Amino acid sequence: MMADANVQPIFILANDTKRTKGREAQRMNIQAAKLVAEMVRTTLGPKGMDKMIVDSLGDITVTNDGVTILREMNIEHPTGKMVVEIAETQEDEVGDGTTTAVVLAGELLKRAEALLDQEIHPTIIAKGYRLANEKAQEILNKIAENVKREERSMLLKVATTATTGKGAEVAKDHLADLVVSAVLAVAEREDGSYAVDKDAIKIEKKVGSSVEQSELINGIVLDKERVHPNMPRKVQGARILLLDTALEIRNTETDAKITITDPEKLQAFLDMEEAMVKRMTDKVVLSGANVLICQKGIDDIAQHFLAKANILALRRVKKSDIERLAKATGARIISNLDDIARQDLGAAGVVEELKVGDEPMTYVRECKHPRAVTLLARGGTGHVIAEVERAMEDAIGVVTAALQSGKVVAGAGAPEMELARQLRSYANALAGREQLAVQAFADAMEVIPRTLAENAGIDPIDAMTELKAAHGKGEKWAGINVFTGKKMDAWKQGILEPLKIKTQAVSSAAEVAVMILRIDDVISGERTERPAQKGPGAGPEADE
Ligand code: ADP
Ligand code: MG
Repeated sequence: MMADANVQPIFILANDTKRTKGREAQRMNIQAAKLVAEMVRTTLGPKGMDKMIVDSLGDITVTNDGVTILREMNIEHPTGKMVVEIAETQEDEVGDGTTTAVVLAGELLKRAEALLDQEIHPTIIAKGYRLANEKAQEILNKIAENVKREERSMLLKVATTATTGKGAEVAKDHLADLVVSAVLAVAEREDGSYAVDKDAIKIEKKVGSSVEQSELINGIVLDKERVHPNMPRKVQGARILLLDTALEIRNTETDAKITITDPEKLQAFLDMEEAMVKRMTDKVVLSGANVLICQKGIDDIAQHFLAKANILALRRVKKSDIERLAKATGARIISNLDDIARQDLGAAGVVEELKVGDEPMTYVRECKHPRAVTLLARGGTGHVIAEVERAMEDAIGVVTAALQSGKVVAGAGAPEMELARQLRSYANALAGREQLAVQAFADAMEVIPRTLAENAGIDPIDAMTELKAAHGKGEKWAGINVFTGKKMDAWKQGILEPLKIKTQAVSSAAEVAVMILRIDDVISGERTERPAQKGPGAGPEADE
């Protein structure tokens, strides 16, 4: 290949590297982010629809929860993934508001695109968006109202707002009541505000019955039954031993084989094995425990000896549950049977096996440290329960956020309308081209009330005009009544949300929009397939 003799092309990238630059890169990135936002937009609000996602194994998820949809969808595009991360952050930080955050990001980028088309430089837009975000945080903090622990009715409203529109909506008042009680049970006062250890709230699921039968149990419920029918069903004054090693000799993790040919030797071997298990069990008995909760297996012989000693034993209990039990009962988790001291045992008033529906579950109640509760989610099918669980998680998140910061706002699009209004007047006071970006940011906020209206089948133009007028007259909590299509005072209607839902959603949406806007060059190497199995010769990973 002889090209121009004077110009030697220089390759600094591998042959198969793809590269997109400038406006083209921006356009593609914005497009991808908008598409992701568009996908969850129709689920926003109490009238939002659900999505059914079928994964490669044919497993079905039916949900209205933004972060769940995005997670299950397996988005490949790099900027698409950045948008998914917004939802993840929102989920971690607040536990609700994931759709809002993603929809805001999509709209910010859409408005930015229009500015780019007017030849406004991305760095100017980025700067304007940053200014607007700072101002937005200030406005939100100013319009928020206070909430205290004693104001249970307000916390209930916060919980109900988070469950509205979910599959679990039928029992939303009941679920809100359970969740508020659960959060209040684990909340601790910490110099002036509250600390809530969300890990102290366990959600256990049991298919059967109806959502209304979901309940809150003071203590920890395990989806386990005692390993041997001769063990006591109920132990009062429980002294609990938590064990994270197996109570058996044949450790399936090591596969040493012993070949015995002589039948006499076999008997001797079995006797020896039994003696060893007996010795192990004796250590449990000697510890003074009357309940054994084991993370691994318990051998048949050990079960027999434990039953004889009148010890209630559970096996293969989840690690997270063992940890929770340790906290709740004051037990230390034991890994070595030779290392048990009396004070390592945990205490609980009662450990009892009870039937839930047709199935046995074990309740650990009246724990030494009472701040551990279990929400037992019920529902007719696995899909219903999964959605009840997500609703509970969202509600726990918002009630916690409301309690921790002590601030709430009304919902139904009211705070976003107010943000838009106040940001516009802020923009008017600015000089320079950033003003246009701040205006675009302000307009973008309105996507929330507009989408709430659209999803409810309400004409968005009429509704938005009415809302704008109301906010202009100082009705800061004027929001959209999705049932009548009219404006309403969202505060008076009890549609409350924690302030943090909004501050977090706006700031992560702004951050990601700015990040995406600043990219003007996308360089992507060809993807190399990872070796399916690690093994000798399978590549550099093999010797890790
Ligand atoms: P997200 O994942 O963002 O939480 P949701 O589908 O839960 O998405 O919708 C939340 C939006 O719905 C919020 O703007 C909230 O204020 C609004 N909303 C909740 N309940 C009502 C209601 N009864 N009337 C109007 N809007 C509501
Ligand atoms: Mg929500």
